[in-house]
Amino acid sequence: MGHPVFDVAGRTALVTGSSRGIGLALARGLVEAGCDVVLHGRDGAAVARSAGELGARHVAFDVTEPEAVERGVAEVGPLDILVNNAGIQHREPLLELAAADWRRVLDTNLTGAFLVAREVARGMVATGRGKIVNIASLQAELARPGIAAYAAAKGGLRMLTRGMCAEWGPAGVQVNAIAPGYFATDLTRALVDDEEFSRWVRGRTPAGRWGRVDELVGALLFLASPASDYVCGQVLYVDGGMSAVV
Ligand code: NDP
Repeated sequence: MGHPVFDVAGRTALVTGSSRGIGLALARGLVEAGCDVVLHGRDGAAVARSAGELGARHVAFDVTEPEAVERGVAEVGPLDILVNNAGIQHREPLLELAAADWRRVLDTNLTGAFLVAREVARGMVATGRGKIVNIASLQAELARPGIAAYAAAKGGLRMLTRGMCAEWGPAGVQVNAIAPGYFATDLTRALVDDEEFSRWVRGRTPAGRWGRVDELVGALLFLASPASDYVCGQVLYVDGGMSAVV
């Protein structure tokens, strides 16, 4: 039996962008821990399929559209845990990057987290408790050529985490972030398939390998449970040590 400080059984949780990849693994982890979990994505059929496999609830809306977010969060109902995970990547050098692509990356990864959290936190602040976990990235701290918009968005999400902590912490809502390193998902498929890049990841990471999505669950259970009741505004790097070394 687990230690009671990590007990989240019976809590209601929404994981955005959980039809696949990291979000789906996090949602599965919360289901296994006894939470009532709501899966989410834009593609209603895909999210319904994944929810069916987990025996979870589901909802579909675009995190970049304020009215859709408001309707979707109202449909879900009161929440104890929100995981802001929906995100996209767009790889292109800044000199060629179109304004529309810059906005899409910022809208999804940064503004989307604000819009969803704003709706959810209204309920949490009123009840005086809640846990919000933003899924940032190693790129919240370290840049790499070709993904400057993504790095800017994730760096913004790191500071948004602190802003939410400043405003909602006093009401009993803990807001923190998880910053994953390199994990094999649809988002990183092109990198996984590129043997030269993949070798660079393995060599550059003290753990010597890519991360497995289920290796993010422990960090989430910490930040979603009473274990983190006095942890606010922090970014927890789960990156095999990549951010610790040059
Ligand atoms: P995937 O591409 O595998 O999954 C992304 C999820 O987000 C899908 O469920 C997708 O569903 C949903 N989504 C995308 N855009 C929107 C939108 N506008 N509105 C609602 N849902 C949306 O990505 P990963 O699992 O790899 O990434 C998940 C998170 O983890 C992202 O925030 C990413 O930046 C972050 N991350 C990933 C890393 C990695 O190595 N994979 C490393 C560091 C951070 P649909 O398409 O149906 O909308």
